[in-house]
Amino acid sequence: MREYKIAVLPGDGIGPEVTREAVKVLERIAEMDSSFRFKTKNFNWNSEYYLEHGKMMPEDGLEQLKEFDAILFGAIGDPRVPDPVSIWELILPIRKNFQQFINFRPVKLLQGLESTLKKEVPIDFVIVRENSEGEYTESGGAMFHGETREMALQNMVMTRQGVEQIARFAYDYARANGREKVTNATKSNVMLHTMTFWDRLVEEVAAENKDIDYERYYIDALAAYFVQRPETFDVVLASNLFGDILSDLGSAIVGGLGLAPSGNINPLGEFPSMFEAVHGSAPDIAGKGIANPIAQIWSAALMLEHLGRKDLHDLVLQAIEEVLVEKKVLTPDIGGNATTADVGDAISDKLERIGGLL
Ligand code: NAD
Ligand code: MN
Repeated sequence: MREYKIAVLPGDGIGPEVTREAVKVLERIAEMDSSFRFKTKNFNWNSEYYLEHGKMMPEDGLEQLKEFDAILFGAIGDPRVPDPVSIWELILPIRKNFQQFINFRPVKLLQGLESTLKKEVPIDFVIVRENSEGEYTESGGAMFHGETREMALQNMVMTRQGVEQIARFAYDYARANGREKVTNATKSNVMLHTMTFWDRLVEEVAAENKDIDYERYYIDALAAYFVQRPETFDVVLASNLFGDILSDLGSAIVGGLGLAPSGNINPLGEFPSMFEAVHGSAPDIAGKGIANPIAQIWSAALMLEHLGRKDLHDLVLQAIEEVLVEKKVLTPDIGGNATTADVGDAISDKLERIGGLL
């Protein structure tokens, strides 16, 4: 029997609420399929931990995580801890040190949902976001303290290796999944050092992959096209910051942040990959039991796919869609009045019913 070791970092706010449901679904799957099981270990590295220890994780935190097959991450962020601290001391060190240079974010209008755009068009594309450098670079500083001459500088680093590997992934993914087009999100009209470099390298890779269409838009126009004609996109390739912004916008056109999953992927498998919903810790609804767990359950399904079980990913997605189509058990963000746990239960029960297929 294959055993997968999963590190679970529930995090803050709604993170633990939605992660509990994702683990519930994983456990239900393991009960149904005797060929493998999950061994999960919880890590309480969150803002509470920071308030007690003065850091987001122990010195050897990354060492501890390294031995796992994958990481399931809730979300972090707490009003008592500055956001840059929680982000730069926990989530970004994991992404960067574990070379999770791909942030994979599906934008898909699931069956049973209506697009916020009130249009009946199929929306099914993926955002491939560079996840290790670019605008999310630590270097910079505030200078010339003193009233009138105060200034701040934030560096942005792009490397040939970094840009090439994400562009190659976008094309490899497109080809392997029958996608026809890669759309490059850029801003090379203004950001003349970095984004022109990005475009040049992306276009070198595009030239090696002529069987897949290529197009390039400035990020501002592209944001408008996401709303005006989302059905025309297939694979959207974006830098770290642009991909972050586009994925919240992408979630908004297919039902909201409660439905947007993501994977931080280390494709060579030297380090664990990490799966988490696109959304944050949502302090405005935390503790109320009404967060939508679908984004996190779908992220766990992406984890199953990453672990080699695309069949189980598809099964979880089918269960999610059946629950959405029935419209009986939905959280308030998508028009229902069910709790987070109700939705986790409903999806688990669907799995059990479909599970005869296993
Ligand atoms: P957010 O994603 O937490 O919330 C934005 C809005 O979406 C809120 O109104 C929230 O209630 C709603 N929402 C989010 N997830 C939902 C769900 N599953 N079901 C129903 N509604 C949902 O973004 P924010 O408010 O900008 O940030 C809150 C905190 O989260 C901040 O501390 C921020 O730094 C942090 N954050 C963390 C991550 C991460 O851990 N990867 C990502 C984004 C933001
Ligand atoms: Mn984000």
